[in-house]
This record gives sequence, C-alpha cells and structure tokens, in this order.
Amino acid sequence: MKKLTLGLAAAFTLALAGGAMAQAYPARPVTMIVPFAAGGPTDIIARIVGDHMSKTLGQQIVIENVAGAGGTTGITRAMTAAPDGYTIAMGHLGTFSAAPATYPGLKYDPLNGMQTIGLAGGTPILIVAKKNFPAKDLKEFVAAVKAAPDKFNEAHAGVGSVSWTTCTLFKGVLGVPKLNAVAYRGTGPALNDLVSGQIDFMCDQIVSVSEQIKADTIKAYAVASAERSPALPNVPTTKEAGLPDYQIEAWNGIAGPKGMPKEAVDKLVDALNKALNDEPTKKRLLDLGAVIPSAEERTPAGFQALIKRDADKLTPVLASAPK
Ligand code: ASP
Repeated sequence: MKKLTLGLAAAFTLALAGGAMAQAYPARPVTMIVPFAAGGPTDIIARIVGDHMSKTLGQQIVIENVAGAGGTTGITRAMTAAPDGYTIAMGHLGTFSAAPATYPGLKYDPLNGMQTIGLAGGTPILIVAKKNFPAKDLKEFVAAVKAAPDKFNEAHAGVGSVSWTTCTLFKGVLGVPKLNAVAYRGTGPALNDLVSGQIDFMCDQIVSVSEQIKADTIKAYAVASAERSPALPNVPTTKEAGLPDYQIEAWNGIAGPKGMPKEAVDKLVDALNKALNDEPTKKRLLDLGAVIPSAEERTPAGFQALIKRDADKLTPVLASAPK
C-alpha cells in the first residue's frame, strides 16, 4: 500500500514537471484572426508577416478569416478569447481607431482592453476606379462624382473599415456626404468586382490594389499620402492631383486580448520584429507598397500610441458621418 502511494506521488510529480514544460510558449499553433475576407490587404499582410513569425516562434501562425461588420466581428472574437497568447488578431486603422466611433455598442476597447504587439505595415490609401471609368485624372473624377453622386457605386468593407473610413473623409472633402455604397466582407472581393467593372470606385490600402494598377486592370487617381509610393511612382499624390486636403495614412497591426502572459507578448513582439527585419519578407511588403514600421512603432507602446493618435483624429469626424 505504501509502495503504491509513493508510486502515485512520483507520477504526480512527473505530471507536474511535464505540465510546467508544456507551458513554454508557444506549445501549439497560434491563431491570427483576420477580420476580413481572404485576398484583401489585412489578409495579405497577415500572411506575409505570419509566415516569418511562424519560423521564429517554431509554431505555425494559422490565419483564420472571420469577416463581418467592418472587421469588428473578427476583432471581437479575438479580444474576447482566452488571453493565453494563442489567439491574436491583425487589425487596422479601421478596427482599432475608427470602429469605436462608429459602433456605440462595441464589445472591445482598443485603448484600454487590448494587448498591442506592434505595427505590421503602413498602407498608403489610393483612390481607385474601374478601368473604363470616364475620368482621366483626379480632377475629372471629383467633378464627375460631385455632378452626379447617385450615378456611381462606391465599394467598401463595411462601416468602420479602412475603405469606409477613408472614403468617408474623401466625401467630406468633396462635400458629397452620401453615395451609393456596396458593403463587402473585405476589399479583396470588392477588388474582384472593381476589375470586372461591377462597381465604380473605392478608397483602399495599397497592398492589394498595387498589382492590379500595374497590370492596368483598374485605374488609380491618386495616393492620399504626402509622397508618392515607390511601388507606384506614376500615381500622383492628392496634393499633386489637386486635392491637397485629402490626406490619410492607413496601417495594419497586431494585438491580442488584454492579460496575455508577458512571455507570449515578448515572443510575439520579437517574432514581428524579426519578420520586419528579414530581407525577403521586407521585399514582399515593399513590392506591394507597404511602408515598413519604425523600431518604435513595432513596440506595444508605440503601436498603442498610434492607435490613440488616430482614434483622437477620427472620432470627431466619424461620429457624425452618415452610415
Ligand atoms: N482594406 C479593407 C478595409 O477597407 C479590409 C481588408 O483588408 O479586406 O478595411
């Protein structure tokens, strides 16, 4: 009887040791929720960065597309998951800085209820239209939209998304509050319809539209940044094209639920940083037009500050915008 008790005690000790060893993070694949459909900018950046992060972590980052409600469905799922480091999300300017102003009942709080990891990529915004849109430059495009706002269909990825937010600002500059808008589960599917000519235009992040612009299957009227993008040197800035008041920069970045273990946060920050220092990964991002984040923006605090800066900027404008 005594022997049996000792045996059990030994087994219990072994099990404990095994449990402690299994805690080394990450012991299993990490899910990265992409809150939009596959093929859009958020999905593209998540897959490029996630590929290299998987190598550093020694565990696969599995991308899960959970689309809906301008990206807030997927981010809600991520931020209400167990804060164990195994569920994180690739969000963006829309889901992290714009959505709180557009969804009063939002179930996550980007400023106080998230563990930021870091910025994954800056994404200049382009005004793009179907190939045969009858305007040869931005001035003509603006004139056409102003003259007949009901005639053209704008695509976006849902209220609160980057495309919705940046086109809302665009319409604000034009003084045309409402257009016919078609909401998609991400701008990947919207781009397909732009290429086939079923919708007229959208404002979107450079990484998914740059290849189509180069292939001449869609038109780009301007990039809403201070400088031209090195990936699309022929596309003028909004300032050059006659609309200097329309300037907006978007971005994508990683966060998880608040309360994640420090070890997981540190390892994810390190893996993101290594991905962004890796030459082939950088090249993939740069070729698509992404801007590689600074050392500061890659830190949890630096990314948090960016989310707050843009939320402060967007909240007063978006709160009263037509939805
Ligand atoms: N670019 C999209 C947006 O408008 C989302 C996506 O990545 O598909 O928010």
